[in-house]
Amino acid sequence: MSRRNFIASTKRKVAKVALLCLGLALWWAAGIGPAHADERRAPKRVLLLHSFGRDFLPWSEYARNIKMNLEQRSPWPLDIQEHTLLTARFTGPGPEGPFVEYLRSIYQGRPPDIVMSIGGPAAGFVQKHRTDLFPNAPMVLTTVEERLIDRASLTEQDTVVSVRNDFVAAFRNVLQVLPDTRTIALVIGASELEKFWLDEVKKDVETLGNRVSFVWYGDLPFDEILKRASALPPHTVLFWGLMSVDAAGVVHDGDRALQRLRAVANAPIFCFEESFFGRHIVGGPMHSIPELGEKTADAALRILGGEKPADVKIEPIVYAAPKYDWRELQRWGISESNLPEGSEVLFREPGIWEEYRWQLALIAAVILIQAGLISGLLHERRGRRLAEVESRQRLAELAHVNRYAAVGELTASIAHELNQPLGSILTNAETAELMLKGTALDLAEIGEILADIRRDDQRAGEVIRRLRSVLKKAPFEIKDIELKETVREAIGLVGDVAARRNIVLGFYAPPEMELHVKGDPVQLQQVVLNLILNALEAISESKAGKREVSVTMGRSAGAAEIRVGDTGPGIAIADLKTIFEPFFTTKPEGMGMGLAIVRTIVEAHHGTISAENQPFGGALFTVRLPIAS
Ligand code: ADP
Repeated sequence: MSRRNFIASTKRKVAKVALLCLGLALWWAAGIGPAHADERRAPKRVLLLHSFGRDFLPWSEYARNIKMNLEQRSPWPLDIQEHTLLTARFTGPGPEGPFVEYLRSIYQGRPPDIVMSIGGPAAGFVQKHRTDLFPNAPMVLTTVEERLIDRASLTEQDTVVSVRNDFVAAFRNVLQVLPDTRTIALVIGASELEKFWLDEVKKDVETLGNRVSFVWYGDLPFDEILKRASALPPHTVLFWGLMSVDAAGVVHDGDRALQRLRAVANAPIFCFEESFFGRHIVGGPMHSIPELGEKTADAALRILGGEKPADVKIEPIVYAAPKYDWRELQRWGISESNLPEGSEVLFREPGIWEEYRWQLALIAAVILIQAGLISGLLHERRGRRLAEVESRQRLAELAHVNRYAAVGELTASIAHELNQPLGSILTNAETAELMLKGTALDLAEIGEILADIRRDDQRAGEVIRRLRSVLKKAPFEIKDIELKETVREAIGLVGDVAARRNIVLGFYAPPEMELHVKGDPVQLQQVVLNLILNALEAISESKAGKREVSVTMGRSAGAAEIRVGDTGPGIAIADLKTIFEPFFTTKPEGMGMGLAIVRTIVEAHHGTISAENQPFGGALFTVRLPIAS
């Protein structure tokens, strides 16, 4: 390489290096250098100091919510380091030294980016040891009641997120919800913190005067509290203050203690800590966990973002709008009308309607459809019944008309029956008259004549009685009757009609056999009359040699039988089925109602009627009526 070339290439290299350096300098200046990138990615170290324990209610719920808020909203990765100030659990002041040493050894030279204390004891601890442990670290004292903050020792590096416990407001709420309350029993433990609060409550309630009396359980072991809570006098309520450590030194961290109390207590339990809400307390005005979680995270993030802690001012958190547990309201018979305005009622159990809405709707629909069908069927049945009753009535009327018609046919026979006795009466009366005019009075003869007159008169009277009974428009009347007599009487009415038509009317009934049935004699006579008149008519129209109608009576399978047979032409096979239908007739002048009426009457007597042709010709009608027991 020539000297000139060497110089030129060296100049180019120098220029390249200079450009590279300039670029790096600009990159650095723009703040995207490795140091800034590290700063952005560097996790923020958060020291979270618990008062009683990580799972100690109610603080555990607040702490969980604060962490959740921080993790969700922090622009930096967070390294949350949690410690617990166990000394708060001691009923007497505990040794703090070792714990202070422990923290110092962890954080010396590398303090956390922020210190957050949860609860009163932790706030007291960090305030007390701030200079020792974290002289310059910013601090957020949270979930702490105002009264537990040592305002005088607050530094520029401290922020407070406090709550305000308004005992009087909480007790007033009890009195509003259960106005008959006479005593409030306060459940509280025996740790330092709890002792402090017991004194505070006692001071505060003085403003309530005589409105309600108080019982303090601060000096009792929890087992004793349980015993007392199970036998409280009426109009007493329990107030769950705090139960961290009881008088026997037993630590109660979760909600087990409250659960046990709820199981035995004979009175409702109130509390202003939302952590216990939904776990056996009635409710009321309470501190809101989400509100505290959000406000604490706000403060912490602002401080981590560079704001001066003293400038981050958060108003003390007071009770949120009252909330009540519906199940507890039900259990203790608390009316919702007693709840303060703006209250919210939670945990409502769905009623049977809400839970099984569609099943119930389906059942209701099925029931409705069924009811509709049933009422439709009932309506139809009623309609049919009415129609049946109506048709019965019509038939009864027709039967009456039919009887008139039958009697019309019998006129000649009746006239003959009446004429005979009336004629003899006349003859006998004339004879008696002649005898009375004569000289020799044969009194014995006259006596005989008068007896004949009386007998004939009775015969005529009997004919008229029978006629009347057939014609009377009586309603269906059930009697115990001897069927042979009834049939014989009916035959008596038509005997003459048959004789004049030159037809033998025979009646055969076993003399020793009595046939008792339950029925209406007039109606049953009409049955016999109709059948005989039909038979006489059938024979009259035929040219058969033998002219005979026979009425036979007997008994068959528990039924009384009336058989009416004739020597007429019989019934056409095709007509046998329809013969009893109304308006069926083969006669030019016929009405076709006779047999329909007959069947209706027989069936109304729970009997049957059948028609058939006899082997040697002629029709045979058989009526069967149940024998009366
Ligand atoms: P109608 O006598 O007005 O016709 P019925 O109801 O009494 O009405 O009789 C119906 C039909 O039954 C008659 O038209 C006849 O054809 C037939 N019938 C009834 N009784 C006899 C009988 N004994 N022999 C033959 N046919 C009969």
